[in-house]
Amino acid sequence: MVIIMLGAPATGKGTVAEVLSQNLNIPSISSGDIFRKNMSEGTEFGKKIKEYMDKGELVPDDLVLEMITSRLNEDDVKNGVILDGFPRTLPQAKALDEMLAKENKKIDMVVNLETPRDELLERTINRRNCSNKNCNSIYNLVLHPPKVEGICDKCGSPLYQRDDAKPEVAKNRLEVYDRETAPLVQYYEKTGVLYTTVLSQRANRMKDEVSKDVLEKLKNN
Ligand code: AMP
Repeated sequence: MVIIMLGAPATGKGTVAEVLSQNLNIPSISSGDIFRKNMSEGTEFGKKIKEYMDKGELVPDDLVLEMITSRLNEDDVKNGVILDGFPRTLPQAKALDEMLAKENKKIDMVVNLETPRDELLERTINRRNCSNKNCNSIYNLVLHPPKVEGICDKCGSPLYQRDDAKPEVAKNRLEVYDRETAPLVQYYEKTGVLYTTVLSQRANRMKDEVSKDVLEKLKNN
């Protein structure tokens, strides 16, 4: 099974992916998490992508594809995968189609999350991430706060605010999304696997409802 999480930054792709991963028993792979891990470990790859990540720009396609192709060749994704943050451009989407076609696999669903813009910015500022790169849990100080302030419920590591959660970078990331990633909605619409749904606190529709609907739809596919 292959599921793609699509949506602007901070729509909740990672949190929904986590719920789906537990229910479907397949790993969720976040390109952003892989990139941040490389940066914090100071790898050659991490050094190459830092300037893009710091500005909220997209990492060039060739670098993204090099890293993702190698991750998708690992054993744990044989039975399925949830892709969170990849693809983010048309060339990446086409490269993924080719990769899957070679293995006789197909995309089962593209979950396109929609959230009002002002809610997205508010969410970004309140977002906290676990500093343990093997845990990567995501919290929100208002919607989903940790039980102990500043500490991850799951692994006890300190939480931190990502550099790209700063207002100027967050705004740029939204512009980059509109320009580079939003066209993927039409791309996947044509393939018939797109499921667009709202994830919004104001609409009282959060990750549990959204995940339940996705799982239901997958069952009926
Ligand atoms: P995320 O954790 O998904 O919000 O991604 C954080 C940052 O990583 C993005 O702002 C980009 O700089 C970079 N990034 C993650 N995934 C991709 C991708 N598929 N293509 C290009 N850049 C990416």
